[in-house]
Amino acid sequence: MKSSPSFRRSLVALITFALLYQSVFAQKPALSAAEQRAASRLKVKTIRDVTTALASKDMEGRGTGQAGGDRAARYLADRFKRLGLKPAGDGNTYLQSIRFKVERVLPQSSFKAGETAFRFKDDFVIAPPLPAESKDINGAMTLAGYGVVSPEIKRDDLAGIDLKGKIAVVFDGKPKNVDNATWAKVSNQMALFTRLISKGATAFVIIYAENKERPYSFVASYLARRRVALADSTQMPFKIPPIIIASESAAERLFTASGISYKEARQKAEQGEFVSRDLNKQAALSVQVKHEEATSSNVVALLEGADAKLKEEAVIYTAHYDAYGIDSDGTIYPGAADNAVGVAKMVAIAEVMSKMKPRRSILFIALTGEEYGLLGAEHWVNHPTWPIEKVAANINFDGIGTDVWGKLGIIIDLGFDHSDLGALIKEVTAAYRVEIAPDPAPEEGFFFRSDHYAFFKRGIPALYLTGGPGGDREAMWNKAGEWLVTHYHWQEYQPV
Ligand SMILES: [Zn+2]
Repeated sequence: MKSSPSFRRSLVALITFALLYQSVFAQKPALSAAEQRAASRLKVKTIRDVTTALASKDMEGRGTGQAGGDRAARYLADRFKRLGLKPAGDGNTYLQSIRFKVERVLPQSSFKAGETAFRFKDDFVIAPPLPAESKDINGAMTLAGYGVVSPEIKRDDLAGIDLKGKIAVVFDGKPKNVDNATWAKVSNQMALFTRLISKGATAFVIIYAENKERPYSFVASYLARRRVALADSTQMPFKIPPIIIASESAAERLFTASGISYKEARQKAEQGEFVSRDLNKQAALSVQVKHEEATSSNVVALLEGADAKLKEEAVIYTAHYDAYGIDSDGTIYPGAADNAVGVAKMVAIAEVMSKMKPRRSILFIALTGEEYGLLGAEHWVNHPTWPIEKVAANINFDGIGTDVWGKLGIIIDLGFDHSDLGALIKEVTAAYRVEIAPDPAPEEGFFFRSDHYAFFKRGIPALYLTGGPGGDREAMWNKAGEWLVTHYHWQEYQPV
């Protein structure tokens, strides 16, 4: 957590002030005297105070549609108010209220096979889409390999097995003798489930293939949490039977009457062998779900521009304040790095700007619902509180990495060249000797995974600023991978 605040705050500031004091799209030398002065006024104390407040126990992880989230929204509205910024949400308030639907699996959900009762979350979780109502399913269990039928790789996991009225058990992962691209094609999940359903399967148990980067506990923690969607979003057009994700340790106990151990079956499947068979166990599954409505708010504040004409245009700063909130078992996800610190940076920028006279208008939006699919941002662009055709640019802070892995040495190129803002960021990073690094994992789709993307889709030039310490890249990505498993949303904030 002890990165170099002075270094990064200057970068943030420079981008900010370059946007305000120059023609947005013009090539100008960076680091004018005015920009340097403005950057020097950013307060680390503000970043620290806001991060600490948002990541505190009192805010309960700022869950969308939860009391802690509402407390965070009121806190941010109050901060904006004290800076003299104008309310720019609903009516004459800072809040833009949004209706959500919330669904969760209740911890009393159960899964029993033979005499073994598995524990919710520790042994199994239930993947979306959740059934509309709680549901009990009983049936014999049949292993269906990977569930793949493909002449291309000469594999038929369903040959000779009967799935009618059965609970289909399938392996996650892939055989070793098939390359990733081919496997992605032949193991398409939708096709796989459709095939198993057409054969009569009444539920699925997917045995999670654990590895160091993605232990079962990681996926279980994620899938056991509540899920949130915009109230006006459309439902999935079809229903599919419940999908259980089971740990490998649970799998060992599912195979005890099958004539083969889980480990052996998995090894054989990985070697390309046919392993499908009845597991000779009856299972009883009870999926208990709860669906509710809830509200949560974006927090929107305006600093009016000083130029008679340009003030009609707005530059929008965004940072999502929501994290994963509090679970029904009391687990809190403080989300200090993701994204209390991003909001704190935005508030620090607002603090400096509130004493200045930028030519364009500036909107500061602390967004909700990001963790569930950029929902607050999607809502804002669909129900904008400023004419959307007059939005000049979006600068988004979603602070993972930049702030917690060490002094900023690189910034990751997440679609910078999609707009003329690319020229600006190149100029600014060059001035600070920060390198622009290519996206290390395009397959992860980071470009699509933060709020700027909702603006980008509307044709608004947008930048998502995230980076890392640089130096030995491989060591850095390894450290980042480790951090994602051990800390990420679970991280407690240690005030610096
Ligand atoms: Zn985030």
